[in-house]
Amino acid sequence: MKRLRLETHIRNFINGHYHEPINGMRVDLIEPATGKVYGSRPESSAADVNLAVRAAEEAFPAWSSCGINTRYAIMNRMADLITANSELLVEAESMDNGKPRSLARLVDIPRAEDNIRFFATAIRHDASEAYNMEMGAINYTLRQPIGVVGCISPWNLPLYLFTWKIAPALASGNCVIAKPSEITPLTASLLAQIAAEAGLPHGVLNIIHGSGPAAGQPIIEHPKIKAISFTGGTATGKRIAATAAPMFKKLSLELGGKNPNLIFADSDLEKAIKTTLKSSFANQGQICLCGSRIFIERSIYDEFKERFVKKVAAMTVGDPKDEASNLGALVSEPHLEKVLSYVQLAKDEGGTILTGGERVQFKGDLAGGYFMRPTVIEGLPHTARVNCEEIFGPVVSLIPFDTEEDAIMMANATEYGLSSTVWTSDVSRAHRVADQLHAGIVWVNCWLLRDLRTPFGGVKSSGVGREGGYEALRFFTEPKNVCIKY
Ligand code: NAD
Repeated sequence: MKRLRLETHIRNFINGHYHEPINGMRVDLIEPATGKVYGSRPESSAADVNLAVRAAEEAFPAWSSCGINTRYAIMNRMADLITANSELLVEAESMDNGKPRSLARLVDIPRAEDNIRFFATAIRHDASEAYNMEMGAINYTLRQPIGVVGCISPWNLPLYLFTWKIAPALASGNCVIAKPSEITPLTASLLAQIAAEAGLPHGVLNIIHGSGPAAGQPIIEHPKIKAISFTGGTATGKRIAATAAPMFKKLSLELGGKNPNLIFADSDLEKAIKTTLKSSFANQGQICLCGSRIFIERSIYDEFKERFVKKVAAMTVGDPKDEASNLGALVSEPHLEKVLSYVQLAKDEGGTILTGGERVQFKGDLAGGYFMRPTVIEGLPHTARVNCEEIFGPVVSLIPFDTEEDAIMMANATEYGLSSTVWTSDVSRAHRVADQLHAGIVWVNCWLLRDLRTPFGGVKSSGVGREGGYEALRFFTEPKNVCIKY
């Protein structure tokens, strides 16, 4: 199995070949743990997108008709190449994003492999419906690939979310124009090598690098790109919808969150605390599913606070390469500053910082890195800005509640509705609360337990549409009903 080359002079991948951006513009890439430049990427424009769309259009007839067994075989080879090169991908992801290597090894890279293998396999089990009519007619529904589709992903789980979109798009026979986040493009550039090595025909997957306005917006605006699958911030999602909706494009928008954890007095507190540490601070709190508002039943508030804060204070912030680091670096300096500004806002709003709240300054190689202590705040009402706006960093807020109704009311009181976590040993309460939470995903007595067959996505300002399983295969296909009278 071929070894990938780690190239830090990143190029676009169009029609099976590597290209410099047509405008010649490049932007430096910074390693978050050191603050130093480690490479550069194209700042592509509409001209590169146009080239990629032409290649994708040419590739579409053959790819959409080559048959599911061919697509299955090629995509399985892509998944095999991820497995064979997993340690290189782990190192690249960690260097590019700042996340601990241990996390990339446990979550990001295995999940990228799983995304591709899951959808490669899913198409072999997919079926469409038929409706028989008593009057002597039968309907059957074809689900046909759309054509050229756009996949745009964020920086927090770079290869994981990039492949989560690309895999169902390719599996269902589409050709793809994909743009990873401009902040973390390194593993996406390795995916280009993987596609080439696996024998993915030229033009089926085209990867364009660049910022949202320069390279993303032309993907949204291109009339030949008929569907957009986007994951990122709510403000960007609004902008994308404003452009794409009047063009009648299919849209899947996976956006921001401000997820609640509801911890009832009857929960297994030991387990709740252990998992809440992860749901608060995994990936430095930069997972859209992290729970940043922790609602605790008043009778156990003090006990939870004391045990939780003690464990948070003991977490290790350190070199992402170091196996002992629980938290690595935040993704960029502007993002670190944004997160720290929310800590200041919490103080201004009258909150108390129970632990953390400050930047961590290392000496030596890591002196310029974007590190921060995991932070716990209390004393703010659920309506405070800190408890309503997405911070997307290692900052959580503790809020007591008295009744189940109160907890549900406060949990539902933001514009977001992505995921929620409920901790209780009362099975009736679990069902009751899950039913009433405004969220696309509810975890009871667990967090981030993912079955790729389940619908994934949010309500309210957390998004439109669902990813995962058949939802994704349906998004990337158009149903066509055929009615035959016999
Ligand atoms: P972002 O919205 O700034 O960028 C996401 C992607 O969109 C990037 O590739 C960016 O270049 C591109 N983009 C920006 N402007 C664009 C435009 N006008 N047209 C087309 N593309 C454009 O988000 P981010 O800062 O990279 O990621 C963090 C956000 O993503 C958080 O809000 C987080 O909650 C959200 N997120 C959501 C999910 C989910 O599944 N719901 C998962 C991960 C992250």
